[in-house]
Amino acid sequence: MEVNQTVPLFSAAAANAGIDFSEPLMRVVNRHWYIMGEEVKAFEREFSDYVGVEHCISVANGSEALEIALLALGVGPGDRVITVANAGFYSSTAIRAVGAEPVYVDVNEHSLTMCPASLEKALSRPAKVVIVTHLYGQLAEIETLAQMAKVAGAAVLEDCAQSHGARSSGGQCGSFGDLACFSFYPTKNLGALGDGGAIVTSSVEIAERLRTLRQYGWSTKYHVTTALGRNSRLDEMQAAILRVKLPLLDQWNEQRRHIARRYTQGLKGLPVTLPVSLENDFVAHLFVLRVADREAFTQYLKEHGVSTDVHYPVPDHWQTAYTLTEQFDLPVTESACSRLVSLPCFPGLTESQVNRVIEVVNSYFKQRT
Ligand SMILES: *Cc1c(COP(=O)(O)O)cnc(C)c1O
Repeated sequence: MEVNQTVPLFSAAAANAGIDFSEPLMRVVNRHWYIMGEEVKAFEREFSDYVGVEHCISVANGSEALEIALLALGVGPGDRVITVANAGFYSSTAIRAVGAEPVYVDVNEHSLTMCPASLEKALSRPAKVVIVTHLYGQLAEIETLAQMAKVAGAAVLEDCAQSHGARSSGGQCGSFGDLACFSFYPTKNLGALGDGGAIVTSSVEIAERLRTLRQYGWSTKYHVTTALGRNSRLDEMQAAILRVKLPLLDQWNEQRRHIARRYTQGLKGLPVTLPVSLENDFVAHLFVLRVADREAFTQYLKEHGVSTDVHYPVPDHWQTAYTLTEQFDLPVTESACSRLVSLPCFPGLTESQVNRVIEVVNSYFKQRT
């Protein structure tokens, strides 16, 4: 492969190659029904079946999914909501939007998902909700965490925006908590051709509140029975696209895992920390390694035609937009933060591109010795 051909971090063209979008799009165009119609209804049914829950309520994007989910749980000013600080501030945005107070707990050194011992400590004071993020596509220790939350009387909200299809013997992500949020942003494992999101739950009561909140607080047309409603809907075109893509999700996740396995094999023995799992509990949304001297590493990769990014460079408790009333000591989060690097990992990435990434990373370490 040519050195001057850059390996991208993500390519929508490669990820969507071979899909016929014209049929579903024209179906919607010719039906002349654009909002809350047959496609949305069918997608909600198909997606809840896929996850293994009773109800799916589609919304405009993953961030509003989190915010509406918190509202449906009755979270408001003065409530404490527990979350991690290494997941890109999305949960923090939702917590702040409903006027609640984020409580940050540390992550496990190996998986970078919520640490049960840290959660235990945080639960010594009452919290309304625990948000568990399945970061980078890795299923968190969700059954342990959910059990702890339950004992403490806190609800569990799973953030599955990076983990569509990740599963263990206990079930699929999104089926463990009281409710769970998904994003269908184009780069996610299941991505639309624009924004989209969903909330899933097996509770009839929560589902009812979610349906009301996503559409003006209406119980029926023009009858506002729930406060804090808004307009947050998935549109018919995106739903039609997602219906075409959903049956392909498992095979795409397998392609992502295949790339992760190739990297793991090809980078063996190098002074880097690699993802912990290559099994079905990992859907390789991102392939994130940890390396010392990240600046030099990413600069070398860039010069040799390999794109990288950092997910995420600033932990939530260090972001400057909000003031925190508590102090947080998160040593694992903080030390991981300065060493994280994401390598290209998406369906459609070719074998020669994977080989190129492996070759460049190996040559970086060779020239340093
Ligand atoms: C992408 C993402 C979101 C937000 O989804 P949007 O659709 O972009 O609003 C929330 N949480 C996590 C972990 C994400 O990766």
